[in-house]
Amino acid sequence: MNLVKSLIRDVPDFPVKGIIFKDITPVLKDPKALGMIIDSFSEMYKGEKIDAIVGIESRGFIIGAPLALKMNLPFVPIRKIGKLPFDKIKVSYKLEYGEATIEIHTDALVAGQRVLIVDDLLATGGTTAASIELIEKLGAEVVKCAFVIELGFLHGRDKLPADKVDSLITY
Ligand code: AMP
Repeated sequence: MNLVKSLIRDVPDFPVKGIIFKDITPVLKDPKALGMIIDSFSEMYKGEKIDAIVGIESRGFIIGAPLALKMNLPFVPIRKIGKLPFDKIKVSYKLEYGEATIEIHTDALVAGQRVLIVDDLLATGGTTAASIELIEKLGAEVVKCAFVIELGFLHGRDKLPADKVDSLITY
């Protein structure tokens, strides 16, 4: 993962003052580095019984879709409110400032399915906790949550079932 780590760019004060944004666009420009991420996750989960991969908008799509393809699994998007066209359910959750709402299509998963959640980065864990709520509303079960990057100092893991969280790089 040293190659991937070396390509993650810190952008200070984005999107607001005081946040150091972990920019993965240089990683995406390098097929070897992106390939390492997809290969690591597919290796990590090859022994797990997983029925679908759920990606969280929007960078979760960039990692989740190629992983789903490689693992020959369905890919399901969770999107910010107002983007999904079909019948959907939603969950709202608190951000540091204000509130956010995410949605999933009602036919995206069926009860009893075992799901792997994928996102680029675990920060406070709020988005992933809300995603788990959405998935469970459909009767499906979250088996694991996979992140390329974990910001350990924000303790997002504490909001999630700890034994279900995997990350490749921790800061
Ligand atoms: P959270 O709900 O706090 O865990 O935030 C997770 C979402 O916000 C992820 O989808 C990340 O892509 C994004 N995010 C939060 N903090 C950062 C950061 N410092 N750098 C890059 N992305 C971030």
